[in-house]
Amino acid sequence: MIPYVSTRGRAPALDFGDVLLAGLAVDGGLYVPAEVPALPPVDPARGYAAAAVEVMWPYVEGSLTRHELERLVAESYAGFDHPEVCPLVPLDDRHLLLELFHGPTLAFKDVALQLVGRLFDHELERRDERVVIVGATSGDTGSAAIEACRDRDRIDIVILFPAGRVSEVQRRQMTTVDAPNVHAVAVEGTFDDCQDLVKGLFADTAFRARTNLSAVNSINWARVMAQIVYYAWAAAHLDDPAVTFCVPTGNFGNVYAGHVARRGGLGVERFLVASNANDILTRLLETGELVAAEVVPTLSPSMDIQISSNLERLLFELHDGDGAAVAELLGRFRATGRASIGPERHARLRAGFAGDRLDDDETLEVIASVHRRHGRLVDPHTAVGIGVAERLRRPDETVVTLATAHPAKFPDAVEAATGVRPALPARLADLHERPERYETLPADLAAVEDLVDRVRR
Ligand SMILES: *Cc1c(COP(=O)(O)O)cnc(C)c1O
Repeated sequence: MIPYVSTRGRAPALDFGDVLLAGLAVDGGLYVPAEVPALPPVDPARGYAAAAVEVMWPYVEGSLTRHELERLVAESYAGFDHPEVCPLVPLDDRHLLLELFHGPTLAFKDVALQLVGRLFDHELERRDERVVIVGATSGDTGSAAIEACRDRDRIDIVILFPAGRVSEVQRRQMTTVDAPNVHAVAVEGTFDDCQDLVKGLFADTAFRARTNLSAVNSINWARVMAQIVYYAWAAAHLDDPAVTFCVPTGNFGNVYAGHVARRGGLGVERFLVASNANDILTRLLETGELVAAEVVPTLSPSMDIQISSNLERLLFELHDGDGAAVAELLGRFRATGRASIGPERHARLRAGFAGDRLDDDETLEVIASVHRRHGRLVDPHTAVGIGVAERLRRPDETVVTLATAHPAKFPDAVEAATGVRPALPARLADLHERPERYETLPADLAAVEDLVDRVRR
């Protein structure tokens, strides 16, 4: 059994089941496995679910039986719209797209969250506990969390979104889910108000303990673990001994999972970290300095992040497992808005990662040119990846760009670039006819606490 340790070095080591439910460590750090197990061989012919069991088994062994893992994985990916689950499709000779958007909410977060919801439920059942999952969404992540938790016996989920500030498709993906444990709440305020309310719920320690509050946010190790799988899956389809992956990035969770696969022995040439105008990671790669900036809204909203939480896991590794040094660096960054990782660590970072940014005009241009050249519609997040891959790829390099959202999830940008409005896939074709169910509340902590108490089972 692999123990998990905190990136800040001052929390007890835990096993997988504890790490799953804990999310954040008590010292404020993120959990990482004390050692990365060797990646087992993956046989594409046996299908995605079999690959997922092989890759994840060493990480969960001791907390789950192999049979339980097989059952949860099979259930998680049965609901995907494509027989390959995450198909690899060629764009041209040496540039392929790994389509991660065939899950219920049409974005890559489903690949991890469909499993994490089931892992949560399983672990809670084993302990005879229940949780209330709360979260704030600016539109995109809420539906993935809802789909992950719907109909799970041991979980109630309450998702806050800013009233009138999410798109109709985004709202309907949250409000038309017909499950007794799902509660979408429109808050009369902004996304920041929603986030403050969630923080307020967690800060009310009596309320938090009484309702057993929890979250499934992107720092949860189990989400990273589930994302390691598709790197091994993609590489197994290719002949190249070393593939380059280009990853549209926000919280750094997705690209970090690829890095863990590489540490497990996967043949990776390098990772290309693709950002939109929120380019703290591009600047870190260029200068070795973390410098905070204001978040600017872009056409790829799921990457509108300036503090990439999962970067902490890589910083821990660059500091050779010195949690105190990581805590000190991040403390300095929080206090002053800047921190240098130093020339030696900067060089190590650049040995494994390169990166670049695209602004919105460049993103639209990529959507248009991919449509023109390849007859394909791609969403703005995927387009950022494709644009960076085309800019940075070397002639002899095979690049796999991760396609993180279905074009129909961002129809306005796609239509603006190509003149073609992408259609929703069949599973969501009647989304606009389905009945909606949600409450509207003022941006008031007492009102939200009252709602949680009313709805939890
Ligand atoms: C969340 C998200 C991303 C960014 O992924 P990170 O793991 O935060 O780096 C990219 N594209 C889409 C569509 C997303 O939903």
